[in-house]
Amino acid sequence: MFYGAIEAGGTKFVCAVSDENLTIQDRISIPTTTPEETLTEVFAFFDQYDLYSIGVGSFGPIDINQASETFGYITSTPKKGWNNFNFVGALKERYLVPIAFTTDVNAAAFGEYYQGSAKANHSCIYLTIGTGVGGGFVLNGQIIDGFGHPEMGHVLLKPHPEDAYHGHCPYHGNCLEGLACGPAIEDRMGQKAETLGETLGYWEIEAYYLAQALVNYTLVLRPEKIILGGGVMKQAQLFQLIREQFAALLNNYVEVPHLDEYIVSPGLIDNAGVTGCLLLAKEAK
Ligand code: ADP
Ligand code: ZN
Repeated sequence: MFYGAIEAGGTKFVCAVSDENLTIQDRISIPTTTPEETLTEVFAFFDQYDLYSIGVGSFGPIDINQASETFGYITSTPKKGWNNFNFVGALKERYLVPIAFTTDVNAAAFGEYYQGSAKANHSCIYLTIGTGVGGGFVLNGQIIDGFGHPEMGHVLLKPHPEDAYHGHCPYHGNCLEGLACGPAIEDRMGQKAETLGETLGYWEIEAYYLAQALVNYTLVLRPEKIILGGGVMKQAQLFQLIREQFAALLNNYVEVPHLDEYIVSPGLIDNAGVTGCLLLAKEAK
C-alpha cells in the first residue's frame, strides 16, 4: 500500500507515491493543460498503485471549507478550464480513499515544518515567489486557515520611490504578487527574470517589496521561521538583500530570530510541496 501526493501547480503537476515511511517510490511531472488531459495522466499514474490516501496541495484559490457546497473546488482562478473545477470530486470518483486538500503553499509549509528548515521550530511561514506569490503558516503542527486559506501574496504594499511599475495583479496592482512575482519582473524589465544578472539594481526593489511583506507577516503572526521558495528565489543574492531591508523596515520594534536563521531557503529544496502532501495523506481520514 502507498500514500499518494499531488502537488498541483499552474505550470505542472507533480504526482508521487511513497511507502509507509514516506520514502518516495515513484514520481512523475505532468504539464498542467486542461483538467481532462492532466487528470487522465494523473489517473494513469495512480492506477498503478494500491493507495491508502491522497494528499493534494493545489494552486488556488481553492475552497477548503468542508461545510461548503463547493468544497474541493478550484474557485476563481484565471487559468483556463480550471475555474470552478471540482478537483476533489474528480479524485473521489476515481479513488475511494481519504483525500486531504489544501493549497500548494500550505502543503509546502507543512513539509518544511516537519522535515525541512523548520523541523526544530514550532511555527513557520512558507512563501513562494514564482508565477504567483502565496504563503502558508503552520503553528504547532497545524496548518492555519480561517474563513478560507491565507492569501499572503495579495497584501498591499508601499511602492518603491524608484519603481513606476503599475503592478501585475488584476485585482490590486500594488500587492506583493502584483509587484514582485516572476511575470511582474518580466513585464517591468522586458526579459525573463531568470535571464537577469545577479548584480542588477532591480533586485534591491524586489527585496524591498518582499521585506515589507515579511515585516507585515512578522508583526501579525510572529513566526519562528520564514522560508522563501519558488523560481524567483533562485536569485540567491535576494536573501541577503531582503534581510537588510527587513532589518531597516522593522527597525528593532520586536525581537526576531537572527536574520540568517529567520529568513531562509527551503530545507527540502524543491520537494517541500510533495513531502507536505505525503504527510497530509498520512493524516487524512
Ligand atoms: P510556478 O510558480 O509556476 O510553480 P516557479 O516557482 O518555477 O513555478 O516560478 C516560475 C517563475 O519564476 C517564472 O516567472 C520565472 O521567470 C521565474 N524564475 C525561474 N527561475 C528563475 C531564476 N533563476 N531567477 C529569477 N526568476 C526565475
Ligand atoms: Zn493582488
